[in-house]
Amino acid sequence: MRIVLLGPPGAGKGTQAQYISTLFKIPHISTGDIFMRNVSKGTELGLKAKEYMNKGQLVPDELTISLVESRLREDDVKDGYLLDGFPRTVNQAEVLCSFLEESGESLDVALLIDVPTSFIKERMPGRRICPNCSATYHVEFNPPKVDNICDICQTGLVQRKDDLPQAVEERLKVYSEFTVPLIEFFEKKGIVKKVDGTLEIEEVSKSIAKVLKEYID
Ligand code: AMP
Repeated sequence: MRIVLLGPPGAGKGTQAQYISTLFKIPHISTGDIFMRNVSKGTELGLKAKEYMNKGQLVPDELTISLVESRLREDDVKDGYLLDGFPRTVNQAEVLCSFLEESGESLDVALLIDVPTSFIKERMPGRRICPNCSATYHVEFNPPKVDNICDICQTGLVQRKDDLPQAVEERLKVYSEFTVPLIEFFEKKGIVKKVDGTLEIEEVSKSIAKVLKEYID
């Protein structure tokens, strides 16, 4: 099962990705998380990516694509994976599809978590993440059990720099210019499934299980 997750920043892709990854027992590959881990470790890639990320802009394709291709050559992705945050441009999608074709593979589903922009702007300021394990929370809609502490690894939660209002505006602009065209790209391939991302987290998960039920053993 090979899935790509689509949807604007703050649509709940990270949260639902954890659910989908457990449901299908496939690895969750988030380019945003990989970049962020590199930023916190201060690697060369992290230093390069940081300047784009903090402004809410896309990291250039030459850095992003090679990162994903090497991840997709690892052993644990043989039976499928869930890509979260990649592809984000039509060029990235074309490269991904050609990469898969080389080994006679293709994507099964492009799952769109649909949320209007007005909703995102309201929801984003409350988002918190764990800098250690990348789990995502929301102070109101998905709070941790202990205030500001990650349920999974007990690390203190932080607010992402790019979740601050100015960067959110830029990320939404980038999303509509570069990522929205991907919906049509995948529609032409007949693989888009859509769920309403404005519902409660559990309701969104239920809708996902419903639209993907033909793939569940
Ligand atoms: P995310 O956690 O998916 O919102 O990603 C955080 C940031 O990482 C984005 O705002 C971009 O700066 C960068 N990033 C993640 N995935 C990609 C990608 N596929 N292409 C370019 N930049 C990306």
